[in-house]
Amino acid sequence: MNIDRIETTLYRIPLPVPVQAASHGVMSEFDLVAVRVGTASGATGVGYTVLNAGHGVAAAAIVENVFKAKLLGEDSRRIEWLWQKLWRGHHYSGRGGLVSFALAAVDTALWDLRGRALGEPLWRLLGGYRPEVRAYAGNIDLNFPMEQLLDGVRRSLAAGYRSVKMRLGRPLLREDVERVAAVRALIGPDIELMTDANEAWRPDEAMRAFHALREFGLVWIEEPIRPDDFEGYARLRAQGGVPIAAGENLHTVAEFTALIAAGGVDFPEPDLTTCGGITPWMKVARLAEAHGLPVTSHGAHDVHVHLLAAVPNGAYLEVHGFGLDRFIAQRLELRDGMAIAPDRPGHGIEFDWKGMEIYRA
Ligand SMILES: [Mg+2]
Repeated sequence: MNIDRIETTLYRIPLPVPVQAASHGVMSEFDLVAVRVGTASGATGVGYTVLNAGHGVAAAAIVENVFKAKLLGEDSRRIEWLWQKLWRGHHYSGRGGLVSFALAAVDTALWDLRGRALGEPLWRLLGGYRPEVRAYAGNIDLNFPMEQLLDGVRRSLAAGYRSVKMRLGRPLLREDVERVAAVRALIGPDIELMTDANEAWRPDEAMRAFHALREFGLVWIEEPIRPDDFEGYARLRAQGGVPIAAGENLHTVAEFTALIAAGGVDFPEPDLTTCGGITPWMKVARLAEAHGLPVTSHGAHDVHVHLLAAVPNGAYLEVHGFGLDRFIAQRLELRDGMAIAPDRPGHGIEFDWKGMEIYRA
């Protein structure tokens, strides 16, 4: 079970359609860092992280130049110990940021390896609560004109989703309100509607937006303000009248602890690719459970479906617009608006490495 191979590969992958959210300009590509961890028995586990284009080279370098030497020869089954070893070894320059992204790819590969060795899917290995998870379409559509926005929602419904998300943060609040009203009119009262402001607002603007959007029965408004203003989150949650989701820009368990302790979030939303992998993701899920909160996910839906299915408080799986579906042999299974965690060992993702080769950076 000793680790004898670590391969790190960087890809720059174009998006089918350029997209925009409030926190970034129009994006047309992203970086994917894939890590393959192998043992002497011939078994291999695969993990990955996703970053803005241009940042992948740094995460890949951390794995190759720093983590690799600390992992080779170690027992791949001691995942918690290995995670702590890498985390503590980079305390000074790490405790979040790029180290969390790099660690995520390694940690996910170790869990995949573990699941494959045991012949168990991650969702059962990590808790096995129930395989069905409510899924929503995480559309990234801030730059789309109204008709394109509505077309995207129609496509999500046609694909079987019963919950959809749209973006907020247009230059005028009036535009956001008009767009939410149009989507609500299209989907009717029974389809769930999430919204995501991607840090568009100052706290005072956010409060006005919450009050203006209260009447539309939103499941949540996500990331209304900058991610580390925990007091601001708490104020919005207490006075805004709409539930809040947040977490894709938190990179440590400590940050989630602070946000939850401040009373700033209804739907903690850890992303295993940004918070250090499956090991810390599960801790955030348990932390949420202990506080009586659900947990949801951001991105990486093919892995997150397992984690949400493992725990009793898994609420929603975001099926993300950066889908890697075209490079993965098996599509995420959707049934009556629910995603089904697969029974294949590990995370069960088989990447089309040959097809991805042209995007190797
Ligand atoms: Mg988001």
